[in-house]
Amino acid sequence: MIKIKNAEEIELMRESALIVSKTLGMLAAEVKPGVSTLQLDSLAETFIRDHGAIPGFLGLYDFPNTLCMSPNAQVVHGIPNDKPLEEGDIISIDCGALKNEFYGDHAYTFEVGEVAPEVKKLLEVTKASLYKGIAAFKAGNRVGDVGYAIQEFTEAHGYGVVRELVGHGLGRKMHEDPEMPNYGKRGRGKKFIEGMVVAIEPMTNMGTHRINQLQDGWTILTADGKPSAHFEHNVALVNGKPELLSTFDYIYEALGITSNEEAPFRA
Ligand code: MG
Ligand code: MG
Repeated sequence: MIKIKNAEEIELMRESALIVSKTLGMLAAEVKPGVSTLQLDSLAETFIRDHGAIPGFLGLYDFPNTLCMSPNAQVVHGIPNDKPLEEGDIISIDCGALKNEFYGDHAYTFEVGEVAPEVKKLLEVTKASLYKGIAAFKAGNRVGDVGYAIQEFTEAHGYGVVRELVGHGLGRKMHEDPEMPNYGKRGRGKKFIEGMVVAIEPMTNMGTHRINQLQDGWTILTADGKPSAHFEHNVALVNGKPELLSTFDYIYEALGITSNEEAPFRA
């Protein structure tokens, strides 16, 4: 059942989303060769607690850490460890926070030092596909329209859209209805309703869309060992249009990037 949020609840969710946005912004300055994902995880946990929130993933389904840290060929759900990041790596960081009983949940794939041009392209296309999906989250559309928009754009670049993992409704639970696949058919699936809040999160592989899972029961990686990227925003349906609750602005500020990609989806 889809849980609709009223205006007050959407404001609370914006607060949770902003804590995650700021956490990723803080991490943006710390992602560099030599730092371990476990060190970054510890920084994030402290930061979230200092902002009066609770790490959203820690203990959720028994996940052991604050951040899902998925380097290179790992798609999502990687567990932080003490292995240092290396020049040319990419690292997908997925972060959740719980405040005022509502969750924020978003993700960004960072470059570690200088990465290969084809990897940079994968990140650009995956992030662009996220905004294609967000634009399709509007009154009159259905779940399949968002999936279609992401899939069509992604596959036109020859990349693989992961099937087994999907976006989702978000609220008092981390994962609410509906599931939001990154593939689909136009006009299919549940209809969008005013007051819905969803996490849209394309997971895109440079090669095959197929994946494997490590023995740790968590880590998802590409079947062909090629890199994978993951970007995620939280979006509310307000006045029939998609309104971003999360922002990459703190990341861009830390990295000195200028972007107005979020402008069409701002309140
Ligand atoms: Mg997430
Ligand atoms: Mg999510």
